[in-house]
Amino acid sequence: MGDQNEDKVVDNKCIFCNISNKMTANTQLLYEDDNYVIIRDIRPVVDHHYLLITKSHIKNVKQMKTREGIEMIKDMKRIGLQFMSDQTLTDELQLRQVFT
Ligand SMILES: [Zn+2]
Repeated sequence: MGDQNEDKVVDNKCIFCNISNKMTANTQLLYEDDNYVIIRDIRPVVDHHYLLITKSHIKNVKQMKTREGIEMIKDMKRIGLQFMSDQTLTDELQLRQVFT
């Protein structure tokens, strides 16, 4: 569907895929790169509650136990920590890794 990244798997029925690939209106992306986005949680349980979402659809946790999956987790951690420090947040931020 006009996507330049051929190995990216997108599931049109997945809410997270829809958000991260900008197929939903009015979700503000606080961060975006080729593979990930960060959004504010729609039901924040703390003041700073964000979700880091992969643009590529992850079917299940098994997929994260591959070398690519492990690299992805490292990326997410790095991006999440960078985002926190950009927001000058330390303790109060709750970061979740969401497998979409
Ligand atoms: Zn998905």
